Amino acid sequence: MADQPTGVPEQLEPLVARLLAPNPSPFTNTGTQVHLVGTTDLAVIDPGPDDPDHVAAMLRAIDGRPVAAIVVTHTHRDHSPASRALARATGAPIVGCAPLVLDDLGPRADASFDRDYAPDLILADGESIGGQGWTLVAVATPGHTSNHLCFALPEAGALFTGDHVMGWSTSIVSPPDGDMAAYMASLDKLLQRDDRIYYPAHGDPVERPQRLVRGMLGHRKQREGQILRLLGAGASDIPAITEKMYVGLDRRLLPAAERSVLAHLIDLRDRGIVTEAGTIWEMAA
Ligand SMILES: [Zn+2]
Repeated sequence: MADQPTGVPEQLEPLVARLLAPNPSPFTNTGTQVHLVGTTDLAVIDPGPDDPDHVAAMLRAIDGRPVAAIVVTHTHRDHSPASRALARATGAPIVGCAPLVLDDLGPRADASFDRDYAPDLILADGESIGGQGWTLVAVATPGHTSNHLCFALPEAGALFTGDHVMGWSTSIVSPPDGDMAAYMASLDKLLQRDDRIYYPAHGDPVERPQRLVRGMLGHRKQREGQILRLLGAGASDIPAITEKMYVGLDRRLLPAAERSVLAHLIDLRDRGIVTEAGTIWEMAA
């Protein structure tokens, strides 16, 4: 499935199709995966960037069927902006996460927040919407962003994971809105569920999701251990810590890696394990 063409819908299982948006980047992998749920009436999850060709491709995939809801996991610009054009074209309501108006201090140009996102209905954890033969249940999963929701499709045992869990890469957690402690808790939350398959917004479906989530929790604990070992050897600043932790990383991803290190340091500081003085971090006495 790695060579999926842009703009052509692919039926993944009876209730789920996906369509790739034309926004590949080092942060989005091949681009944003839009998911269409249902057969006679549809939900469109994470409509993606507001690109006229992409909106036209979504309308071709919808093929005149009623759209019950345009569903949004979070308001990064590669996920929600097309919701307006699609709502105008179909009359469907925009449903999902709460709006967030923040200046993004992070390095991801494509991760800045969609300030114009205007939902008709905000779903809280456990609330649901439905159509013919399908239900989507919101699963609050803050961490990547504070407003992030996953959506469960109980009829298929599937979970649409947005940017919370992706098969191709770990999620970027960029403070101040990104929160490592919340992200770890949201990974734990998925471990308590028994979803059969995850459909992330970037990358291929994840067919053994529990194993992946356990691996991601382990990966973050490993990163935390690395930071503690480095600080145990002496006080340091974030660029120096990142350099030692992410050997051989694509230079374009280095600023994002520094944000993740900062997210870990804030978590460790809040737990009383490290302290900061200006740009220098050290073990708490
Ligand atoms: Zn995102």
